[in-house]
Amino acid sequence: VNSLFASLGTTIFTTMSALAQAHGAVNLGQGFPEGLEPPGVIEAARRALAEGPHQYPPMMGDPVLRQALARHEARFYDHAVNPDSEIMVTSGATEALAAVLLALIDPGDEVIVLEPFYDSYLPVIRRAGATARLVRLAPPAWDLPLPALEAAFSPKTKLIVVNSPMNPCGKVFTAEELALIGALARRHDAYVVCDEVYEHLVFDGQAHVPAITLPGLRERTVRIGSAGKTFSLTSWKVGYVIADAALMPVLARAHQYLTFTTPTALQRAVAWGLDQDDAYFDGLTRDMAARRDRLAQGLSRLGMTVLPTAGTYFLIADPRPLGLEGSDEAVCRTLTVEAGVTAIPVGAFHETAPASPLIRFCFAKRETDLDEALARLARFF
Ligand code: PMP
Ligand code: GLN
Repeated sequence: VNSLFASLGTTIFTTMSALAQAHGAVNLGQGFPEGLEPPGVIEAARRALAEGPHQYPPMMGDPVLRQALARHEARFYDHAVNPDSEIMVTSGATEALAAVLLALIDPGDEVIVLEPFYDSYLPVIRRAGATARLVRLAPPAWDLPLPALEAAFSPKTKLIVVNSPMNPCGKVFTAEELALIGALARRHDAYVVCDEVYEHLVFDGQAHVPAITLPGLRERTVRIGSAGKTFSLTSWKVGYVIADAALMPVLARAHQYLTFTTPTALQRAVAWGLDQDDAYFDGLTRDMAARRDRLAQGLSRLGMTVLPTAGTYFLIADPRPLGLEGSDEAVCRTLTVEAGVTAIPVGAFHETAPASPLIRFCFAKRETDLDEALARLARFF
């Protein structure tokens, strides 16, 4: 086949998980939680599956879930959203991103993407015919490079993608940073597409701020979330889009031709999950922060330089102090094959690899697995 997609490789997550399996490695690579699945939500799915219905739910999402999402917006962000016109349920955030990008972009447009970026953005942006303008954030602080960002905007800019909390670097954007991005978007009449799948994984008392809630940004901002992250159920693929009623119809045009709907039972179970009391959401954050600290301290004790992470379930480490030479990919391969621990090369989130080889670990794992990974690394070094 001769097409743009024929030239793409297999995702790094698939590749590294396969390598981990082949070598019996502890998989701290691909981002999926283990041992954190909430039994109540799974039980709610069981009930919903028994009760039905089993035919196509409404294209915009089961009303039960849309109402729960509206309550969630009000409860966590003091954000009033109309469940009939401003919420769309999708098959995961991956579909939400594809639908939103395909709906908004025309050939010849420019799209600003902050680097490091999640792997699904660029293929869809380019398939839609746009040119990606990359703006690189640099470790260890991952500060927003304002002059570079300003320079990336042009009369052709259709939208900017902002991922906060940010995979893979764990940056959580402040309201001030989002307001700066929003001001540039307004000046250039661009949309702000916010990938907020890790909205409930923000640590150390910092708060997640959805850009859509900031003054003057509602009409041009699209907020994307995922139950896969909030409920540690990545196979469920229940995502959602929140956008102003004036913008939503065009986003729905793309969704109706991508997946149209998402299984009702899973939507109902997610609705049940969203209505849980604060203990669930606080517990998730607390548990995840404890796992972050456990892994970060363990890796530091071994001698790796661990970068701070304020959100997501990922942390980045610099393996060079341990004498691991070569590219980040080579380091991840060596660690998997020889140490039995899998991480993800941070270069996979870049168009051109960053200067220093950095690797990403997922800490949303059982404490026993984190400890086992650390023990294996200790034996290896
Ligand atoms: N965006 C980011 C930043 C992610 O890390 C992921 C990973 N799972 C997704 C989107 C995709 O989410 P989903 O599994 O709901 O499709
Ligand atoms: N979002 C997950 C990660 O960053 C991976 C999802 C996938 O495998 N496509 O690791």
